[in-house]
Amino acid sequence: MILHRPPAIPTAETSRPSVAWEETACPLCGRDEAALVLEAPDPVPVPGGGLWFAVVRCKPCGLLYTNPRPTASTIHRFYPADYRPHRRPGKMQQSRAARPIWGRLFGRPCNERRGELPWPKPGRLLDFGCGGGAFLKRMADRGWQVTGLDASVGAGRAVQEELGLKVLTGTLPHSDLLPCSFDVVTMWQSLEHVHRPLSVLRQAYQLLVPGGKLIIATPNIESLPYSWFGPAWFGLDLPRHLTHFTPKTLGTMIETAGFRVGMMRMIRHGDWLRSSARLASQQGRGGAWARLLQWKPAAKTIAWGCYVAGMSDCMMAVAERPS
Ligand SMILES: [Zn+2]
Repeated sequence: MILHRPPAIPTAETSRPSVAWEETACPLCGRDEAALVLEAPDPVPVPGGGLWFAVVRCKPCGLLYTNPRPTASTIHRFYPADYRPHRRPGKMQQSRAARPIWGRLFGRPCNERRGELPWPKPGRLLDFGCGGGAFLKRMADRGWQVTGLDASVGAGRAVQEELGLKVLTGTLPHSDLLPCSFDVVTMWQSLEHVHRPLSVLRQAYQLLVPGGKLIIATPNIESLPYSWFGPAWFGLDLPRHLTHFTPKTLGTMIETAGFRVGMMRMIRHGDWLRSSARLASQQGRGGAWARLLQWKPAAKTIAWGCYVAGMSDCMMAVAERPS
């Protein structure tokens, strides 16, 4: 794919006519004092694609976010029809994305190592951004009473029809979801996609019972892979990723929403490293390092190194609504 340079800031002349744009203040502290960090292209090859986007850092609080950005009502135009997280489990058998979290966290089905789980027994679970429903299905099979929520109408309908699981369309707040009606809310690689992440976390707080758990996994921009690959880093995924967290800013946002953070840990993603390396090579950057990391054993080894260094390109937080 040949990418054409700027506008880093999309304009009416250059953007797709069906997309509306907005500038935003900081999604965490609400201030409007930000400095440019980098500009990077949309990595998804779409007709008329190749647009570049800017990531800025809020000077008062340090949060990184995409600005300007497509509005909430038009950003779906940047999601291709076969967007990988929206694929159903049956279509992902060969894909490691089918088991993005549990395999890496626990290495085997979670009921075999229940002692490591932040909850003792099955309960009511809401998966925010449930995509193709792989996690929902796994938890339903283990006795959980699951509800999915996803902005994609097509993905939600498919999960309902093909897996027989309850999925709502939209975001938080949602009129069908009642306060104090869940024991666990999960957000696997979804919080970075929303326009108002702090509001979503506050809504999750309302939905949880006192003592209920919130589990979030999201890319970590304070990672070695980001420092190596910059605009080609897989975790950027502009403009679909609107907020780019570090362990510190993720923890701050979770606590601002009222939660108590109990655990923050890194997650290894050798496949993310390979994707970043591939993208870097396509963009003519990264040299021999990028070529080496496209080799699976090398990517797995280096992903381990990033994990040990505490600078993996994905992280997970477990928080609790105080009793
Ligand atoms: Zn801020």
